[in-house]
Amino acid sequence: MKTKHVFSLIFILSLLVIVLSASAFADKWDDPATASDLSHVHKFGDWITMIEVSCNSYGEQVRICSVCGYKQHRFLDAIPHAYGPWSAVSEATDHSAHTEQRTCTRCGHVDTKLVYPEGTLRLWSEGRTVKDVQKILLSLGYLSPRAVDGTYGYMTEAAIKQFQEANGLTADGIGWPQTVNLILKSKNG
Ligand SMILES: [Zn+2]
Ligand SMILES: [Zn+2]
Repeated sequence: MKTKHVFSLIFILSLLVIVLSASAFADKWDDPATASDLSHVHKFGDWITMIEVSCNSYGEQVRICSVCGYKQHRFLDAIPHAYGPWSAVSEATDHSAHTEQRTCTRCGHVDTKLVYPEGTLRLWSEGRTVKDVQKILLSLGYLSPRAVDGTYGYMTEAAIKQFQEANGLTADGIGWPQTVNLILKSKNG
């Protein structure tokens, strides 16, 4: 019996929520021109900016009828960043990427692009060099046999990290030319 009361209470509350949200919705979206009780043509003033449109953020404007005070809303689509040109921040080495940045002239947002040195192997790199590296990592005890598949997955990344750590390199799990060359040398040496 108690649960029944709870359920009817929930039912009444949800009805209330629906009615309230519907009326809020109507307030904002009813087209004034088709409203049946309209006795005048709205005399709108200028659009007033409520929320300034900006990078990745919607804008909102409102205009008010000077006769009845009706508020009409409109939304403005967000605008994309206005980036300036790319400029180099740092040059690539055998164990770091070439970094370029560009700045939005409107909001100052900084966009960064990394260009990896040629021959860099990293997550989801594929191919023969990846497999060669994996075979050596297997022989050195850093990788299990099932990870030797020619794809630079998470296990390869972890093995590279361990190899880097053991050899005094920055342990970031990226197969920089510096790291890869050292691994390939470990086979011959
Ligand atoms: Zn009006
Ligand atoms: Zn911006």
